[in-house]
Amino acid sequence: MGAKKCNRADLTLDNTQAKKYSNTKLFIGIGEGIASFILLFVFIAFGFSTHLENYLRTFFINDYLIFLLYLFVLGIASSILFSPVNYYTGFYLEHKYNLSNQTFWKWIWEGCKETLVGLVIGVPLLLLFYFVMRSFGIYWWLPFAVLMFIVSVFLAQIMPIVILPIFYKVTPIENENLKTRIIALSKNAGLKVENVFKFNMSKNTKKANAAFTGLGRTKRILLGDTLLDNYTDDEIETVIAHELGHYKKKHIIKNIFIGTVSSFLVFFLMAQLHYISLTWFGFNNIIQVASLPLLALWGALIGLVQEPISNYISRKFEYEADQYAVQSTNKKEAFISTLEKLTEQNLGDKEPHPLVEWFFYSHPSIKNRIEAIISLQ
Ligand SMILES: [Zn+2]
Repeated sequence: MGAKKCNRADLTLDNTQAKKYSNTKLFIGIGEGIASFILLFVFIAFGFSTHLENYLRTFFINDYLIFLLYLFVLGIASSILFSPVNYYTGFYLEHKYNLSNQTFWKWIWEGCKETLVGLVIGVPLLLLFYFVMRSFGIYWWLPFAVLMFIVSVFLAQIMPIVILPIFYKVTPIENENLKTRIIALSKNAGLKVENVFKFNMSKNTKKANAAFTGLGRTKRILLGDTLLDNYTDDEIETVIAHELGHYKKKHIIKNIFIGTVSSFLVFFLMAQLHYISLTWFGFNNIIQVASLPLLALWGALIGLVQEPISNYISRKFEYEADQYAVQSTNKKEAFISTLEKLTEQNLGDKEPHPLVEWFFYSHPSIKNRIEAIISLQ
């Protein structure tokens, strides 16, 4: 491994494909974001939004129904408009770089399931949002942020036991030796783990991942089968130790706290900006359905500030979890090799432009992570 790391030319060569893949995804993502913003702006500024609302009002009276239908039309229009891009990034690119195990129809089917789950969670939330807005007026952001806090805690709780099984088969891992080691490691971190689960990531992708999900009684460690099949027990142990690091350093609780504070702040700002800018577009009431995309526009602009801040915090947490992984296992070499293998398997850019990393990366680049690990005592 030493030789491999010293040879920078090799790393650069290896990284060319990954860079191409990552940059293509990045540029398309940025382009899609800018295009959506402009389209939505034109949609409101040139009166199309008002026309759509008025048109729906010729058929229906109920405000909630009009609200949902309006969003439905917008949702359908945007998914048709962006379907070529979604096909290109979600299916074509993944196959071009040999990362996918999906057939075309399997890809469509997974997309349908995602949409359905999104609707089941999203529609009640949207109705609640509109109800809160109609009841509390300009102060809607306060009760809505409280509601979102409750919903996100609830979703985090049901995630591993209700939502994940819709997409993957979740089963206890069979490797008894590894299981014993993971349980011992968890005990050291002060976490009672009864079982370790794997999920069949390989049905969709060749990429690998592990996660620590759930809250309270649903807390559990999940390993992709793509990870279990390609890594040594030592390497897997370091991945688990990293996830346990997040638990030990209280990142889960901290993330809930940070998320709550930032959602209060973001909703507050969105409410003020929406209210102030109503008249610019010829609206006169915040509950006017046609004015609601304005919220999304302001939300996107606020996101430009919020995103790098939350990524910065996330990267800090990742360094802390890495540090815990090394200190709790004493397997520095195994951990470094795991990170290198993972990055190669997932075709991650090992050395993204520092600005790109700073703005977009929730995890530090592999180069920075390994440097930090090497410098650990
Ligand atoms: Zn992590």
